[in-house]
Amino acid sequence: MTSTMTTPCIITVAITGSVPTKKDNPAVPITVPEQIESTQASFEAGATLAHCHVRNDDGTTSSDPEKFGRLVEGLKKHCPGMIIQLSTGGRSGNGRERGGMLPLAPDMASLSTGSCNFPTRVYENSPELVDWLASEMIVHNVKPEIEAFDLSMIFQAVKMQKEGKIKAPLHVQFVMGVKNAMPVDKETFDFYVKTLKRLAPDATWTGAGIGKDQITLNRWSLEAGGHCRTGLEDNIRWDGTGKLAPSNAALVKRVADMCAEYGRRPATVAEARKMLSLAAA
Ligand code: ZN
Repeated sequence: MTSTMTTPCIITVAITGSVPTKKDNPAVPITVPEQIESTQASFEAGATLAHCHVRNDDGTTSSDPEKFGRLVEGLKKHCPGMIIQLSTGGRSGNGRERGGMLPLAPDMASLSTGSCNFPTRVYENSPELVDWLASEMIVHNVKPEIEAFDLSMIFQAVKMQKEGKIKAPLHVQFVMGVKNAMPVDKETFDFYVKTLKRLAPDATWTGAGIGKDQITLNRWSLEAGGHCRTGLEDNIRWDGTGKLAPSNAALVKRVADMCAEYGRRPATVAEARKMLSLAAA
């Protein structure tokens, strides 16, 4: 067995995002109590990292730091040690609003290092905003997860790390399957993995597939020694047949169960924190 085959898998659960509503799938958690309950069930099913947005009660997206604060407090209580990652994504407000919750000092926050097209709009990350978000993360000791929607964003993250704008080691998420951005393509995925390894040998990475290809990226990532992301933010369905996913926890369990097929197992909280160079819980 190679060392890759025995690397425990950090399972990220992206519980809610900002797009799917209860009309799309009643299991999407919207209120803070629903989000805490759904994350706790996912934690118990094997997830060690929660990627979080907050919503208004009508389901629309929110950037309210107070709401993020209540979520973080609940997650710390009900999911001891779980890595908490808050989204600074483009739907979580405009401009610097997107980083308004970084003073809460979560373990991690997402950071896109470039712009691309999304299904109906431009996902805009100007160099000035990217630098500002990265500098706030250094101030508040928050580890970024680089959201790489294309190859240039990987190069940009490495450049920023070399310039001291992002602390090493990098953690990068390869996102595939967002309409109008990078499709789900195995040769490109393999090239992402190879390129990151070449440019930043100490980096860790996760694969995230959108929609029916969530499970495709789960499998490719398990096979290549990376980490996995699942959850209702990226995919509200169980599979290509259109059946709805019953819960975030069910999607997590599916990945946890799949690990053994690749000689892997879900990481514990302590292992996940160590692999990501985060402080012990
Ligand atoms: Zn997100």
